[in-house]
Amino acid sequence: MKTLIIKARAKKAFTKTKIPGAAWVINQYVGCQHACMYCYAKFMRKWYDYGEWGTWVVVKENLPELVKDERVEGRIYMSSVSDAYQPVEKELKLTRRILENMDKSAELSILTKSNLVLRDVNILKKFENIEVGLTVNGFDRRIREEFEPHAPEHKKRIDALKALHDFGIKNYAFISPIIPIIVDVEEIIHETKDHTDFYWFEFLNMRASGKEFRYWLAQNYPESFKILSDEDKYREYVRNERKIILNSGIKVKGVETHCK
Ligand code: SF4
Repeated sequence: MKTLIIKARAKKAFTKTKIPGAAWVINQYVGCQHACMYCYAKFMRKWYDYGEWGTWVVVKENLPELVKDERVEGRIYMSSVSDAYQPVEKELKLTRRILENMDKSAELSILTKSNLVLRDVNILKKFENIEVGLTVNGFDRRIREEFEPHAPEHKKRIDALKALHDFGIKNYAFISPIIPIIVDVEEIIHETKDHTDFYWFEFLNMRASGKEFRYWLAQNYPESFKILSDEDKYREYVRNERKIILNSGIKVKGVETHCK
């Protein structure tokens, strides 16, 4: 995978956010090598004109220094326009250095698609108030190669959730994007419930997923596309999935449906 790395310096580490459940966000990377076709952060190309999403990453090199002195009240979310554990992190260790330098009493929520997060368990354990989430959606190989070509496979994410649990780190599953016919919510709950502290759910945001993704879905999964683009069918689908979620005996923090 060839990636353009752009080195940058930031003025501040934390930015105010309206992301549910968080007050602040930290984005040490902008851009993401996981290159998800549906990624909602693709809009960042408006300001970072380096080419196709997934082929470049902006690296804010000075964040490990900045976090030493910045203190904020409320939960910090890592990250919203990138994945803190995308492949380049293996070599750069930028996320790791940030975690090492951060105030360990900070409230921190990390969400990733990568089992690379397990590399940092020894540092994560030092935080007094931390939760680590894995995005899971159960995509099979064919779908994953289209939708999330460079993200770790489903089983690795499930195993990472279990490992976090075994290490005593509070964990959560972010089941997203929920797509009719393609994603089996009930099965994912079944696979994870014994070693997952809580859940967030998010149905696909059709608008934010972009033209290319909508086109692919319409061509390859016309039945899914039909449900997503018909308001009544979609509402019925959401109602049924909600029932499954709420009857499954798990702790649910939120369900984002993107219904109008
Ligand atoms: S892992 Fe997240 S940030 Fe990265 S491309 Fe996929 S959806 Fe976007």
